[in-house]
Amino acid sequence: MITANLISKKRDGEPLNRDELNTFFNGYLTGDVTDAQMSAMLMAIYFNGMNEAETFTMVEVMLDSGSRMDFSDSEQYVADKHSTGGVGDKVSIILAPVLAAVGIKIPMIAGRGLGYTGGTIDKLESIPGFNTSPNLEQFKKWVNQSGYAIIAQSKNICTADKKIYSLRSKTGTIPSTPLICSSIMSKKIAEGISGLVLDIKVGNGTFMKTKENGQNLGDWLKKIGSAFNIKTDVVYSNMNQPLGRYAGLSCEIQESIDCLKGKGPSDLIKITLELGSHLLIQSKLAKDKKTAYKILEEIIDNGKALKTFISSVEIQGGILNNFELNNKPKFEKIINIDREGVIANMDTESIGWSLVQLGCVAQKKGEKLDFTAGIEFYKKTGENVNKNDPIFRVFGARKKQVEYAGEILKSAVKVRNEYQHIPLIL
Ligand code: URA
Repeated sequence: MITANLISKKRDGEPLNRDELNTFFNGYLTGDVTDAQMSAMLMAIYFNGMNEAETFTMVEVMLDSGSRMDFSDSEQYVADKHSTGGVGDKVSIILAPVLAAVGIKIPMIAGRGLGYTGGTIDKLESIPGFNTSPNLEQFKKWVNQSGYAIIAQSKNICTADKKIYSLRSKTGTIPSTPLICSSIMSKKIAEGISGLVLDIKVGNGTFMKTKENGQNLGDWLKKIGSAFNIKTDVVYSNMNQPLGRYAGLSCEIQESIDCLKGKGPSDLIKITLELGSHLLIQSKLAKDKKTAYKILEEIIDNGKALKTFISSVEIQGGILNNFELNNKPKFEKIINIDREGVIANMDTESIGWSLVQLGCVAQKKGEKLDFTAGIEFYKKTGENVNKNDPIFRVFGARKKQVEYAGEILKSAVKVRNEYQHIPLIL
């Protein structure tokens, strides 16, 4: 099989069969297919899409590139949550210990930053010593010890996704339904879970800009989940503004800790409870949403969720002592608003790109991230502002980057006399 011919075939809109997909994608892992060839193939898939057989085969090819976890011996419900990506989305870091504390096992395989959206793994690695690449025996042990663990794709599990995910991030090939489906579902199936809740972000700060596109993705993800015996629920949520009051790396860990202490911002708490309620109902730990919310709120209020988070971080090698102090940024800049009115629109994608500028998402292999960098949102959509009110605080260790990100942020907000409310849960 000639690699270049497979790219041409996909470029011309013809479907690829199982052998062809296997040869091409496994060839990328062995080095027979180059980054340039894979980039061309990803772009051809982006433009021409994939049919059902190809999409399912892609999931299998990605899944078979690594091992699969087995939790069939677990007496507890084994499940997970995954988001399609957004700005300030730290829900996994909060929800995993909350669910573990109520008795659901969470073996989570998460990703790094993708495009302009932040990555759970990058945020967790701002905790010194936190190990996101254990061997699989250790991963299972951690899940059994703490009730949950969060790791990255590795040479042992979801190997193809590890390599392709990072290439997609750099080649403008993220917003493709078959590529998103195979990336997400290969990770989730490899975890050996029985239940899943997906947070499909919709809006100007994510890859699915319209509800229609989001719903199409949701239908595909559910279909794949069901074919692999994973009970899959989907929640559509608003990503037309960042989630919470912070976006960045260590600042998102700090905000997650605040949430686990019951002191988080209302949008972040709401989406956490909503997603968690689906898994509580799936697992039969709650009979309905109201009961589920009550259980989840209680586990945060009584401190058990926070305790689970702290012990899991320790088990994964992380050191939380003086975390906030050690991540104090060297430079900061306050951005003020230039007129009075109501915040009508936030250009969340450009806020995401300013985070990339700050060093919160890697642009090159081996790039060192700035764990101290981020943005604080003093105001969110729907809030009233006066002329010269501070709206953003941008911070980090690299002065030039802080200045540059500040410039991008100046035009990221529209203030008008009125605004149209979009609910958090769509
Ligand atoms: N999350 C993933 O894991 N993969 C994608 O392609 C998008 C979001």
